[in-house]
Amino acid sequence: MADATLFNPRTYDPAHFDPETRRLLRATVDWFEDRGKRRLIEDYRTRAWLADFLAFSAKEGLFATFLTPASASAAGERDKRWDTARIAALNEIFGFYGLDYWYAWQVTILGLGPVWQSENTTARTRAAELLSQGEVFAFGLSEKAHGADIYSTDMLLEPDGDGGFLASGSKYYIGNGNAAGLVSVFGRRTDVEGPDGYVFFAADSRHPAYHLVKNVVDSSKYVSEFRLENYPVGPDDVLHTGRAAFDAALNTVNVGKFNLCTASVGICEHAMYEAVTHAHHRILYGRPVTAFPHVRRELADAYVRLIGMKLFSDRAVDYFRTAGPDDRRYLLFNPMTKMKVTTEGEKVIDLMWDVIAAKGFEKDTYFSQAATEIRGLPKLEGTVHVNLALILKFMGNHLLAPAEYEPVPTRLDVADDAFLFRQGPARGLGSIRFHDWRAAYDAYAHIPNVARFREQADALCEFVTTAAPDEAQGKDLDFLLAIGQLFALVVYGQLILEQGRLTGIEENVLDELFAVFIRDFSAYAVELHGKDSATAEQQRWALGAVRRPVVDEARSARVWERVEALAGAYEMAP
Ligand SMILES: Cc1cc2nc3c(=O)[nH]c(=O)nc-3n(C[C@H](O)[C@H](O)[C@H](O)COP(=O)(O)OP(=O)(O)OC[C@H]3O[C@@H](n4cnc5c(N)ncnc54)[C@H](O)[C@@H]3O)c2cc1C
Repeated sequence: MADATLFNPRTYDPAHFDPETRRLLRATVDWFEDRGKRRLIEDYRTRAWLADFLAFSAKEGLFATFLTPASASAAGERDKRWDTARIAALNEIFGFYGLDYWYAWQVTILGLGPVWQSENTTARTRAAELLSQGEVFAFGLSEKAHGADIYSTDMLLEPDGDGGFLASGSKYYIGNGNAAGLVSVFGRRTDVEGPDGYVFFAADSRHPAYHLVKNVVDSSKYVSEFRLENYPVGPDDVLHTGRAAFDAALNTVNVGKFNLCTASVGICEHAMYEAVTHAHHRILYGRPVTAFPHVRRELADAYVRLIGMKLFSDRAVDYFRTAGPDDRRYLLFNPMTKMKVTTEGEKVIDLMWDVIAAKGFEKDTYFSQAATEIRGLPKLEGTVHVNLALILKFMGNHLLAPAEYEPVPTRLDVADDAFLFRQGPARGLGSIRFHDWRAAYDAYAHIPNVARFREQADALCEFVTTAAPDEAQGKDLDFLLAIGQLFALVVYGQLILEQGRLTGIEENVLDELFAVFIRDFSAYAVELHGKDSATAEQQRWALGAVRRPVVDEARSARVWERVEALAGAYEMAP
């Protein structure tokens, strides 16, 4: 029987969505299957631009339907809305077939972020028109010299004396910069000092003052360097000014960041079908490779980790869609999707690659590109460090000071997630409160490894209360990030359990997954123990937090049966 927890194009029917969403998702899957594996891999290897795919998207109105918020759609366009649940579903499909496709869509989302947050109706109308014509978009934030330090932009806007500006400067790592109908560009005015001088404006990549320099990567993804030379920015092109421009940048990244988790889920799913099928059919010394105990362990770990990635990402959708000025919990769960789910994706691929070894290099596999592309996701929309540092801001309130909230249901309803484009100032993170994380764990206290992991989570609370970093350690990001990894695991487990409850996931799988988390927590605790600045008390705490998972052979065997059933469950059409 097909494993309903994993995406399988053979059986995929997203009937939980409205008819047009269901049609578009299925049509996208069919487009890839019709194209076939050989062609897909050939396009990847020859770094072909995605013109055929974008033509399909334009014809079907795929990007236009999924990426035009209700507020920017015309009367009668009932299917257009910004709906994070269906956006997540499409991310997974793109990840499954190729990250290059996902990337063109992802940077379109980022490019639209500053526009949909803007009150500039001319720019909004233009963007909606361009989308309906099938155009892609781009987000011009990064610069060659400045990396994550976006405060230091050298894209300079000089007033033209007529209410507009002339923009000059370079941008680097800008996806779709070769083709975008609208590029949202971040810069600063030459006549205003400090944050008040920031400007986000819309540029056209076909304008003569827009110079495409090159693709900085060797891929179908067009990650451009471009240069503006006295590019005229009229009042109708200005999207945001001053601090609002900076907030628009961060809030756009908040929206875009969320797409990384489901993309990595899709990559891992496709790679897993290939890996398990190969390992199961490969006979060494007269037995299938999957008869080796270490192979079983690695594939079972990969499988439960992947299920965990899915459960967390799906549950995070609910918090994203329920967010509002008084419920900003998504600001923790969102960087978690980014740094935790995507690094779990790397582990899943590593585990499987260990098993399939040479096969993972073969050019006619999807796996070989999965092994490369999975690395990119932790590095996009802020690095793992940046997101982990962000997560730390929430630790005290999340662990120790829970607040009451209405329960958040599964959010697959037909709704426009309008709040994402009016998130407001990106400040005040330390004062955000969370519902009690213990409730999710209590509901599964009967599962042995959930109960044991809970001991580690309780120990972390004790650490924060009694052995918290001192002032000097508070400035030692290396030390803090080690704590951040421990905290991230507690939050990760929480949403996984919440989603497990909502979907009735098999408890053997949760038990096996939490056995993995116990080992992970123990490993991070040992790492903390070895940090240069760890005090004697912190070292004692760290070793005291190490636990051994509860072993249950029958449970492991049942989980293994699920893994084994993936052999031959899907092979892409040739
Ligand atoms: C394939 C690809 C596509 C991209 N597409 C786009 C795009 O379309 N538009 C766009 O604007 N950008 C894009 N980017 C840029 C991307 O967002 C940057 O990679 C990111 O901002 C980090 O910059 P950097 O890689 O230069 O690292 P750097 O900023 O040089 O960082 C170096 C190191 O310092 C650490 N570090 C930096 N700041 C902090 C901090 N505050 N706290 C803790 N650690 C820190 C980092 O973790 C890293 O290890 C893309 C990048 C890639 C690789």
